[in-house]
Amino acid sequence: MNIAKPDVKNMYLCHKDINNYLKYLAKRYKKFVKLINIAKTFEGRYVKGILIDHSIGNLGINRNMIFIEGGTHAREWITISVALYCINQLTEKHFRHMDILSKARFFIVPLVNPDGYEYSRTQNKRWRKNRSLNSKNKCIGTDCNRNYDFKWKFKEQADGVKCTFKGEFPFSEVETQGIKNMMETFSDQILFFLSLHSYAQSIMYPWAYTKELPPQWPLLHEVAEAGFGAIKKSTGRIYKYGSISNVTKKIFSGTVVDYAFGVMKIPICLVMELPSSKYGFQPPNELIESIAIESWIGIRAMCMESLSSYNKILYIPQTLIPKFFEKENNDENNDIKLRSAV
Ligand SMILES: [Zn+2]
Repeated sequence: MNIAKPDVKNMYLCHKDINNYLKYLAKRYKKFVKLINIAKTFEGRYVKGILIDHSIGNLGINRNMIFIEGGTHAREWITISVALYCINQLTEKHFRHMDILSKARFFIVPLVNPDGYEYSRTQNKRWRKNRSLNSKNKCIGTDCNRNYDFKWKFKEQADGVKCTFKGEFPFSEVETQGIKNMMETFSDQILFFLSLHSYAQSIMYPWAYTKELPPQWPLLHEVAEAGFGAIKKSTGRIYKYGSISNVTKKIFSGTVVDYAFGVMKIPICLVMELPSSKYGFQPPNELIESIAIESWIGIRAMCMESLSSYNKILYIPQTLIPKFFEKENNDENNDIKLRSAV
C-alpha cells in the first residue's frame, strides 16, 4: 500500500492529510515510529500521537520522554505546522538529531483538536474551542485548555472571554481525556512537557492559576532561557519568557501545563506561544517553513537543556533539593518578575 507524503512545510494540511503523513512515517520508519490513537472526537475524527523511539526504551535514565502537543486551540494553525516540523526532523531527518535521539524519546500529538481545526479551516477562522455540545451552556464547544482538573473551579469563567467555556466538569472532553491518558501511560517517564500555542511569542512555565512561582522555578526558567537564547541567536527574534501569569498578566485555571506540572509531577512543563502579532494565528503559507525552522531550533535547545539540567539535579542529594530551590527563589523572586514583564 502506497501512502502519499503530504507537504508539511509550505501549507496548512487538513486533518486527513496530517493523519496520512503520520501513517506514511509509521510505514516508512517502522523500526522507531509507532502511532497511537489517543481519542475519537465528537465528530468522529481520530486524534493521533506519534511515538519516536530510537532507543527501544533503554536510554540509561528513567525520565527520558519529551511530550509535545499542538493544535489544542483550533485557530492556532501554526502550532500544528511546527509540531509536524518537529516530527519531520525527528523521523525523516533523524540522522541530524542523533545527539538528542540517543538520549530521549518523543511523543508528539500535532493536532489535539481536529474538529475545531476543521471548523476553523472551513467556517470561522477565529474558532478556538472544540465542537462538542454542552447542556449547560448555549455556546457550542469547550476550551480544551481550561478543561484539565487542576484548580478547575478556581475561576468561574476561565478568562472572562464570552463563550470561553471550561467544560461541564473537569475532563468532560475526549481530547483532554486522551492527553491525560497518555500522560498517565508514560507518567514516570516524561521529563519535559511542551504545549504549543500562538501568537504571543513567549516561552512560559507554571503557574497559570497564580502569580506565585513554584519552588522549582529556577530549573523551568533555565530551560525557557535556553529556548529564548537559541532563537535570538539564530534569527534575532526576541521571545518573552517567565511564568504564565507573570508574562501574560492574567490568571487562568484548568490549563494543561498546570495539570502536567501540578498533578502529573512532570519535572519540566512549558507553554510556547509562537510568533507573531504581525501575522496572527495563521501566518501566510510562505512563512510556515521559516517559523517552523526557527521554532525547532528553540525547541531542540530546550530539549537538550532539559536533559542536561535534570541530570545535574539528579546528582544533588534528594534532601538538599528543597533547600537549593528555596534559596534561589528568595534571592531572585523579584528579578524574574521584572524580566518577564518586558
Ligand atoms: Zn492557544
